[in-house]
Amino acid sequence: MEIRMGLIMGGKSAVAGTIEVRVGDRVEPGQTLLNTETGKGNRPFKSMVAGRITRICVEEGSQVRTGDVLFEYEEAADGSGADGREPAMDKNAAPCQDIKRMETDVAVIGAGPGGYVTALYAAGQGLRVVLIEKDQLGGTCLNRGCIPTKTLLQSAHLYDTFRRAGEFGISSGNVTVDMDKVFDRKDRICGENRRGIGFLLDSSRVTVITGTAQVMPDRAVMVKGGDSAYEIKAGYVVLATGSRPVMPDWARTPVCMDSREALDSRSIPHSLIIIGAGVIGMEFAFLYAAFGCRVHVIEYMDHMLGTTDAQAAAVIARTAKEKGIRIDLSSRVTRVLETDSKEAVVFYEKDGMEHAANAEKVLVAVGRAPEIDREAMELAGIRFDKKGIKTDENLETNMEEVYAIGDVNGRIQLAHAASAQGIQVIDRILKRPKGRESVIPSVIFTSPEIGSAGKSEEQCREEDIKVKVSVFPFTANGKAKIQGESEGFVKLIMEEQSRRIIGGVVVGPDASALIGCIAVAITNNLTDDGLSGTVFAHPTTSEAVWEAAMGLSTGCIHYHE
Ligand code: FAD
Ligand code: NAD
Repeated sequence: MEIRMGLIMGGKSAVAGTIEVRVGDRVEPGQTLLNTETGKGNRPFKSMVAGRITRICVEEGSQVRTGDVLFEYEEAADGSGADGREPAMDKNAAPCQDIKRMETDVAVIGAGPGGYVTALYAAGQGLRVVLIEKDQLGGTCLNRGCIPTKTLLQSAHLYDTFRRAGEFGISSGNVTVDMDKVFDRKDRICGENRRGIGFLLDSSRVTVITGTAQVMPDRAVMVKGGDSAYEIKAGYVVLATGSRPVMPDWARTPVCMDSREALDSRSIPHSLIIIGAGVIGMEFAFLYAAFGCRVHVIEYMDHMLGTTDAQAAAVIARTAKEKGIRIDLSSRVTRVLETDSKEAVVFYEKDGMEHAANAEKVLVAVGRAPEIDREAMELAGIRFDKKGIKTDENLETNMEEVYAIGDVNGRIQLAHAASAQGIQVIDRILKRPKGRESVIPSVIFTSPEIGSAGKSEEQCREEDIKVKVSVFPFTANGKAKIQGESEGFVKLIMEEQSRRIIGGVVVGPDASALIGCIAVAITNNLTDDGLSGTVFAHPTTSEAVWEAAMGLSTGCIHYHE
């Protein structure tokens, strides 16, 4: 006979807490069998029957819903349950999964660049660490984000270079692409990196558990879904559960894919509509166009790439056009239909009129939402909104000793930001004095790349900061010409009064590496002299940074406006 969960107020599920009985126990009406945690508080679940428990069908930490079978029992012969007989247990009953109990200093939930870096850093400082991941080590960044996209972009870049080989005096014949091999290489690189992370965690003595973790109201971490269930008592908990693509209802048709599906598709369609000219949209636009796909990007705003420097975005608009990428700005997509021939029709509003565009496939890149289990968070009482888990300036949530880092806290969606936040949290736990405020550079891997760090010109205008701006074009840089990539510039923004470099943008060759040098200057309060007084090797693209610094003081050497 079965004992089932009664009505849960509000129709929601509850979380099973401590189970108060064991198989074979005699129970009486009114006896507590299980403690449950519901949105309305903790409630004991009491027996309404008398008998012996023959099977436990619930795990501590699991979600239970109204009507779920929690226990099986055998009615006592006289109905009293107090007959003194040995329990009649079902020999074939699946044993209840044992809950392994652990104690640790830090429990980290999520093994993306936020979580696994936090775990490695904490372990390196002598803390005992448990890292829980429900999917693959490396998270979004390694498995469906930074690394796979940049690996594919590298193949695209090489293909492009081969096609331009004539410019360099090389005839390369008929260059072809084997997409299967391109995707195999991507998978191989991701796999190698995953194994590398596994090795590092192992050699740092981080305990890695596979399963879905959830924080309980008493801060214990329950894990299920893996080989065993766990209850982990940790001094500190770090939530690093990341984010997932936003897929509007109108995009839920088979012709639409998100970035993860695009990375798994192993093929390039003949034509593609990309909804959203943000970072993902534009990186994919250049990727697909390089492999010969006809790309049409549709963007709601009147500019592309969000808050990126307008001059840099204009360079990208120009190169996109040269590569045949069509971009419609100020256009809001309202729906997507699939035709009988399995092609996509995308409807969008522009200039007060409805337009339609056709393509083989549609990539939806309209933003990413925090990965939050709403019900679990509500039960635990951890505050969040649609942007993410709410944190204070120390990245602590409203639950003491529980922190949230990376994409899930909705501050900034970048891999290195997630890692930096994890290190910040561990330093705080170890009561280390807060270091200087560091800037978070960002790089957009379009063609050419854009790197940005510190304050933008627009921010300075808004904050009424008086600045001097210097721009040095790559057309005047020897190495850029050698590389055949002289499109773009280096821009430095200096606060007039202190002469400190407070912002910078690089669009052009090696932008992803050069922005690091500008980030060092900003973080360490370097002035224009600090940069222009440094000697940069020749011929390198880094000389463009030096020239831009010279432009702030005595003037550029190789460029006059
Ligand atoms: P994630 O990397 O999302 O990791 C979270 C992990 O938590 C996941 O593995 C997930 O399975 C796990 N998890 C979730 N819930 C649970 C749970 N309850 N229990 C156990 N585990 C759980 N950023 C850059 O800086 N540079 C780039 O070039 C770049 N390119 C990108 C390209 C694309 C296509 C995309 C989508 C993103 C890109 N990003 C890039 C953004 C970057 O991937 C994210 O900012 C970064 O991965 C966030 O790290 P995170 O650790 O916060 O979360
Ligand atoms: P995003 O916010 O950068 O861009 C989404 C774009 O979609 C916006 O410009 C928005 O106006 C547009 N949009 C929304 N609804 C629309 C509609 N109905 N019709 C037309 N346009 C619409 O988001 P994303 O590109 O999905 O990227 C998410 C995050 O991932 C980024 O913020 C970034 O931090 C991270 N990321 C970083 C890198 C990198 O560092 N190189 C690469 C990829 C992703």
